[in-house]
Amino acid sequence: MQLPREVIVGEGVVERVTEVSRRLGFTESALIITGSKTYEVAGKTVREHLERGGIEASILVVESATLKDVERVEEKIKSLKPQVVFGVGGGTKIDIAKLSSARQGVPFISVPTTASHDGISSPLSSVKGLEKPFSVRAQAPIAIIADTNIIKEAPHRLIASGCGDVIAKFTAVKDWRLAHEERNEYYGEYAASLALMSAKLVMQNAEIIRAGSEEGLRVLLEALISCGVAMSIAGSSRPCSGSEHLFSHTLDIIRPNNALHGEQCGVGTIIMAYLHGANWKRISETLKTLGAPTSANELELTKEDVVKALFMASSVRPERYTILNKLNLSLEECEKVAKATGVV
Ligand code: ZN
Repeated sequence: MQLPREVIVGEGVVERVTEVSRRLGFTESALIITGSKTYEVAGKTVREHLERGGIEASILVVESATLKDVERVEEKIKSLKPQVVFGVGGGTKIDIAKLSSARQGVPFISVPTTASHDGISSPLSSVKGLEKPFSVRAQAPIAIIADTNIIKEAPHRLIASGCGDVIAKFTAVKDWRLAHEERNEYYGEYAASLALMSAKLVMQNAEIIRAGSEEGLRVLLEALISCGVAMSIAGSSRPCSGSEHLFSHTLDIIRPNNALHGEQCGVGTIIMAYLHGANWKRISETLKTLGAPTSANELELTKEDVVKALFMASSVRPERYTILNKLNLSLEECEKVAKATGVV
């Protein structure tokens, strides 16, 4: 189990990067991975604080999240030999920093500028160019510094997406339990409960999150961080990624760069909750309250895209047993389900 040693969430906490680094023994050098926009939003501030605190901080700006970027960062790590790598940005910059630092055996600190998915805290990375369309093992961040002053400046759409990624744990845990019952797969009650509690808390706090309050944002951030911890405890993405994620990964193949990960997972959760015989209406209503998409239309997808993704989802990751394997739906049945849940 790899767990973060320091998690700091709150207003203005980015100022504490030096203090946290020093406490963890990184007193000399750091490499900051960021994007050109996120450099302005937070990367610059992180660098200034580290340098003021006597820690030499180099910046490497990356604009995409491909295997080539990971390799470029690895070269930089080899030549600079930093004590720690910071990932400052939304999902992609953090994924690049996490995977490249893991491959080079250097610790990693996560400084998210958005709350759009649980990659800010998970031990996994999603990078284009790998053989698989889903996340691969990297390392858990040794520290997470989530400054709500920075994150609340991001568009609400990103917050709504983060909520979708957390609500997805509702069906992910059901799929995990199903795999345990029917395939005798390892199931960890503690990790499952932690992921499920995060989903419940986000659902219960949907209105204050939608209102954009500091309190609501903290609930979401703590939920995302807990989901990352749940994956670290389980040793896999199982508690956080089930059939609803397979649906999202398939959409990424059919319609690349269309909607956000958490938006697709949220819609997937409505459908998979229906298939599990669970309260899918409540999922749909909560997503609406949060201002997150609940239909193909809102995801800017056609009916055919959704039906195809639903039909293909179980083949994207055959070893991950979910409700889709159990039911083995025909194309006609997929269309019926999408209609019944109001997704198309
Ligand atoms: Zn996810």
